Amino acid sequence: MNDDLRALIRSVPDYPHAGIIFRDITTLLLDGPGFAKTIDRLAAAVGTDFDLIAGIEARGFIFGAALAARAARGLVLIRKKNKLPGAVIGVNYALEYGEDRVEIHADAVAAGARVLVVDDLIATGGTALAAVELVRAARGVVTHAAFVIDLPDLGGAAKLAAAGVVVTTLVGYAGS
Ligand code: AMP
Repeated sequence: MNDDLRALIRSVPDYPHAGIIFRDITTLLLDGPGFAKTIDRLAAAVGTDFDLIAGIEARGFIFGAALAARAARGLVLIRKKNKLPGAVIGVNYALEYGEDRVEIHADAVAAGARVLVVDDLIATGGTALAAVELVRAARGVVTHAAFVIDLPDLGGAAKLAAAGVVVTTLVGYAGS
């Protein structure tokens, strides 16, 4: 599925650590028609039944912004800690080694707003689940999340589904 897009994603072995295959979307972004088709297909899959898009730093901003402009919906930035100037809500989440934190402006999501979460890739789902938790803590309703790339063997998409979120992905890679 979406083999034309798959062909534009560069796979870099042993980056950033031995044993990881980094799925690099910068080569997809460099290809104008490929980038346009990516947004077309994500937009078709997610529809317009949402009020706001939440893009996850940093590559989720790229796809989230393009989708938000296409649907004429607002974009809320889910950022790493200490980047936002206003009052924030934060959620800590576990990494392979240690912990990280994502934050959102406390006043960014109206109570009951339907929010689509967007990132470039879902692996273990730790980041996306933290983003969902954050939007829910801000009293938004997350029904859908969209990613260009899925690594299904790492289980993230299944965890999001278990959390009540419909997941859209375009290109899957077996293994990690
Ligand atoms: P996870 O929290 O494990 O689902 O990891 C998702 C986040 O880490 C996303 O923001 C991705 O951009 C990044 N990421 C994880 N694994 C990879 C990979 N193999 N290639 C590129 N980015 C990755």
